[in-house]
Amino acid sequence: MNKTAWLLACLICGFILESVFSLNVYLLMIIMTLLFAFIWQIQDQNNMLATQKEQQELQLKVQSTAKDAHLKYKQLMTMVSSIPSPLLLLNQFGKIVLHNDVVKITSGNFAEEETYLRNGYVREVQEFIKDAFILEKQLERRIELQGTEFQAISVPVVSHGKFSGTLLLFQDISKALEGEKMQKQFLADASHELKTPIAVIKGMVEILNRDDFSDLETQKDFLCQIEQEVNRLDLLVKDILTLSRLSSSHPLLDRRKINLQELVETAVQSLKKAAAEKGLSIHTSYALKDSVFCDPMRMRQVVTNLLNNAIKYTDQGRITISLYEEDTNVVIEVSDTGCGLTEEQQEKIWDRFYRVKDDRSRKSGGSGLGLAIVKSIVHAHNGEIEVSSQEHHGTTFRILLRN
Ligand code: ADP
Repeated sequence: MNKTAWLLACLICGFILESVFSLNVYLLMIIMTLLFAFIWQIQDQNNMLATQKEQQELQLKVQSTAKDAHLKYKQLMTMVSSIPSPLLLLNQFGKIVLHNDVVKITSGNFAEEETYLRNGYVREVQEFIKDAFILEKQLERRIELQGTEFQAISVPVVSHGKFSGTLLLFQDISKALEGEKMQKQFLADASHELKTPIAVIKGMVEILNRDDFSDLETQKDFLCQIEQEVNRLDLLVKDILTLSRLSSSHPLLDRRKINLQELVETAVQSLKKAAAEKGLSIHTSYALKDSVFCDPMRMRQVVTNLLNNAIKYTDQGRITISLYEEDTNVVIEVSDTGCGLTEEQQEKIWDRFYRVKDDRSRKSGGSGLGLAIVKSIVHAHNGEIEVSSQEHHGTTFRILLRN
């Protein structure tokens, strides 16, 4: 009830009191004034309390909104700083309102509240930001900064249909470009490797097809060579396929607990004849207690490739394969007393199609992919492989598998 209503109520009460009790007018006026003053005060107190409550509620609301905004800003900053690529946000006036630390690599220090026009930014970066800001549209551009290739992307920020800033992201694409380059190189090398046996086969078939060709001895010799080249092609294609399967980011492995000693022994037995033909012996040393968690087919390929190489590149002496434990790891070691490798060669032998002596490797049917395959398989098992060698004295390959 407001004050006017109380006043009216007091007047009505006064009239009733006057007519019922025939009170003195002055006394009545004093009673009514006191009554009204009392009600007036109570009403004022109530109003004050209500206003105070409202103010407190409002204050709490403002505090929680400020807290929420601060929390959201913190979350946004954490998100922005955990983005590994340089990121920058400009407002509608071209001022920097948000950036992460890594943005430094594009143009040194960026400070908030600065405009993109400040001197000192790398020219290409500044031009890109300027174009993105002025054109108010999505742009993409490649920028090279200190030898690193970046794909710069700008996204206009639109709020209620109005341009309200630009988001800029610089993505490091060097690795992707390197991968692309390696892929191209691999394709070029593979085509070159395939071309050679195909050209040999083509030449011989052309001669064999001549009407005047009748030399049976040469025919037999050519057919033998064609068979060799076809075998080489077969091996090459198989190796290329294996390598391309292993090159995927998550190569498929059929890993299980296996008896590695049995696996190695089978590989040794199958190569003993080839070693004996060169007057070489294969020695084994097994000191493994537990089974090993790995893909048996792939691991057999690793052991076979290393033993095959040891036989190929050793003319006298012996080949040794050892299995032993080191801490919790399993070690496979293949050593030979062969031609060995220089330090430079030791670095290059993992490259695809690399051969130290082209002739020797080709003659023995090598594709130049054997060690690249070995390395890929070991890495797919999260293992490590290293080589130590001394020219004319021999080579040791050491594989470490985490069990
Ligand atoms: P390849 O099919 O030519 O043997 P690899 O990838 O298996 O291809 O080996 C690459 C090169 O590394 C070989 O051409 C050879 O020169 C060298 N190599 C590999 N294993 C040995 C070894 N045990 N001793 C000496 N050289 C080796």
